[in-house]
This record gives sequence, structure tokens and C-alpha cells, in this order.
Amino acid sequence: MIYSREYESMLREDLEQLQLERLQATLNRVYRNVAFYKQSFDRLGVDIEKIKGIGDLKQLPFTTKDDLRDSYPYDMFAVPLRDIVRIHSTSGTTGNPIVVGYTRNDITIWASLVARVLTAAGITSQDFVQIAFHYGLFTGGFGFHYGAEKIGASVIPSSTEDVRKQITILKDYKTSALISTPGYALHIGVLLEEQKIHPEQLFLKKGIFGAEPWSESLRAQIEEKLHIEAYDNYGLTEVLGPGVAFECPQRDGLHVNEDHVIVEVVHPETLEPLGYGEEGELVFTTITKQGFPLIRFRTGDISSLIEAPCKCGRTLVRMKRITGRTDDMIIVEGNNVFPMQIEQILLDMKGAAPHYQIILKREEGLDAMQINLELSEKLASFDEIRGLQKFEEEVGERIYRELGIRAGVNLVEPMTIRRSEGGKLERVIDLRD
Ligand code: ADP
Ligand code: ZN
Repeated sequence: MIYSREYESMLREDLEQLQLERLQATLNRVYRNVAFYKQSFDRLGVDIEKIKGIGDLKQLPFTTKDDLRDSYPYDMFAVPLRDIVRIHSTSGTTGNPIVVGYTRNDITIWASLVARVLTAAGITSQDFVQIAFHYGLFTGGFGFHYGAEKIGASVIPSSTEDVRKQITILKDYKTSALISTPGYALHIGVLLEEQKIHPEQLFLKKGIFGAEPWSESLRAQIEEKLHIEAYDNYGLTEVLGPGVAFECPQRDGLHVNEDHVIVEVVHPETLEPLGYGEEGELVFTTITKQGFPLIRFRTGDISSLIEAPCKCGRTLVRMKRITGRTDDMIIVEGNNVFPMQIEQILLDMKGAAPHYQIILKREEGLDAMQINLELSEKLASFDEIRGLQKFEEEVGERIYRELGIRAGVNLVEPMTIRRSEGGKLERVIDLRD
């Protein structure tokens, strides 16, 4: 099912024309109303009248997270504050929070873009949608709430209630779709097993997860534990919140809502635009937002674009699932790796529980990576220490073979690694300077 077929399946040429018109209008507004953009365009000698095609976008300067932090709280807003009806802020995962504002029209569009996300996952007005995202400054809770109401679903704003309460709600309220972080969904799944609640006793069919990177292996585990179909969705506060990109039933890349944002992928160091299939940093330009428009915003998120049309009928470009953030990339003795690549391996190892933490230290002047991996109940019953040691070695060898990084693997007792409480999980602890 497609929520806005007219836009989601638009002919590419028509879409580009629409993007250009909306881009030009946005440029005019930000140049007039936001001192930062006037200065940065003037400094580069950019004449916005000369932006005559989407290809001209690359003449415009980038906007960085630091630029947004420097404008704390309201300097990037492009409308008078009386027209702002909602304020949110980033979670602050990678630095000081950034404050964003929405006009009434922004809120309406936001809801319709989240409605696309839900509809693409097959969620309808018949569904009971449990939103286990924090309702607050974080955009996840309210973003999904408005979208789910828009499609007429029965919305259960369970927010960050205790996980046991979430399970009671899942069961008793007959929840059919769960919205949360993937880490939290896994936490719920593992607890169901422990409480001997078989997923067949639930009514759950779909899950939409995002807000943090997750691997295909984690998707498989969540699907198995909850007996659902799990969909990825991507969003960020600066650009909108949830509703930027979403999976369709093909679940092979996330469609970007290109009639509202223009997406580019650039080389993270040279900042040169990259072609389809080339991995780099995602850059977004918003083209309909009034309160907090963004021009060429560098997200720090790593992905690539998929050109081929999608079997689902949408013509919106797809981005691959996020590999990680540039700020999350672990550099150990000159080797680069994203936590998700490690996750993929750990979750594929039979006998490990899906809970882990990566610790970076400096030992005798050298970087050292230690991975604390929780034992599954099954493995915990191996009484033979040698078996456990061998397993640690096997995991370490596989990481070295596939990622070229030497890591000390340390099996830890069940239930000793922190579980998601609904927010983003801290997977990596860097104890180096
Ligand atoms: P913060 O940047 O402080 O975490 P947000 O709450 O706005 O603030 O989070 C947005 C970020 O979350 C994105 O830039 C991205 O790094 C991450 N993210 C969101 N959705 C996904 C997803 N589906 N896969 C991977 N990462 C995601
Ligand atoms: Zn598709």
C-alpha cells in the first residue's frame, strides 16, 4: 500500500521539477530570513538566482552540526517565533543538543510523511499501534504519534513505561504493531522468552524500528523472537524526525521522501558528491519546511543510494540501511570499523546472547578493543571453562578474519550488560584519551 501514490510514484522528471521549484522557494526564504545562510551564501559568492537545476545544488555551502549548535537556540529559525507551534531537540548522542521548531504546516506535513512510513509497512486504521518511544523533546514519540493518528490507527502511547508494563500492554491491548528502537524490541523479545510468553499468544504482526543503527542479523533475531515482520525507518531531528526514509515491503533499502527533502551522498573528507552505489555521508536539503529549513546538512550518517526502480512501484530513491555515523567509527590501530559490522558477527555466532558492549582502551601505548559479550543461557550451562575460552577465541578469530581487527572477547554472565530502556543504546565505551 502506498499512502501518497501521487508523490511516492511520481515520474522522475516531474519529481525533479517539483524539487527545483521547492528548492528555489526555500533558498529565497532562508536567504531573506536566516542571517547564517545570507552570510554563508555571500561568503561563497553564491547567487541563488543562478540555481537553475538540481545539479546546481553543489554550488551551495554545507551546513554542519556545529553551525546548528552555534545558533542555539533559535537563530536558524526562518519564521517569526509566533508562527512556531512545536519545539523539539536532538538526543545529543554526539554533542550538545540542537533545537528545532515546526510551524503548523510543518507538523501537518510531518504527520503525512510518517503516515507513508506506516502505510508502507502495511499498517492501517485496523491496527493497534504501540509507540514505545519517549514522548518529549525527542522527535520519535510525537512524530510517530501524529502519523499513526493520521492513518486512523488506534494509537497506544506507551512511551517509556517499564518493559514489563510494555509486555502487559502488548498482550492485553492486542497491539498489532510495535514502534521502538531495535534495541528495545530485542529487549522485549528476550523478556518474552524468559517469561515463557509465546509470541503466538500476542497479536503482534509488524514492527517499525529506527533511531539507532542495527544489522540484518539483529532484524532476524527480532523477527524470530517476536514473530513479526520488522521494518527499518530513518529520521533525524534536524531534518524532521521520523519520516525521512522508510522501508517498503521489499525491505531492500529505504525510500527517501524526496518530494520534501533532497538527498546527496558526499565523500566524508573531500566532500565531493558521490554517485549511486558509492558509500559516503548523507547530506539533506529540506524543500518544504518553514520553521527550520536546512541547506545541504551534513548528517554524519554513512550510507549509499540505490538507483534501480523499486518493485513496490515507488519512484523515490532508496538509501541503504545506515552503516554507522562518522563520529561512531572506531579507529583501532589505523583500522576503521563501525560497531554494526561487529554486531553482525556477534549475532551470527551461535551461543552468544544478542547483548554486547565494545570497550576501547589504550594498553602500553597501543589501542586495544575488548568486547564484552553476554552468554546465552545455553552457553552458560557449559560447565567446562575450556569450552567458553574456545568460544571467545573463535569469536575473536572471526572478527580478525573479517574486519582485520584484533579484539579480546570476554564472555560475561547473563543479564550483566545494560538493556535498552527505550532510548538509544550506548554500544561503545571509549576509555582512550
Ligand atoms: P542524535 O543525533 O542526538 O542521536 P536524533 O534523535 O535526532 O539525535 O537521532 C538521529 C540520528 O539517529 C541519525 O542521524 C542517525 O545517526 C540515527 N538513526 C536514526 N534512524 C536510524 C536508522 N534507521 N538506522 C541507523 N541510524 C539511525
Ligand atoms: Zn520500494
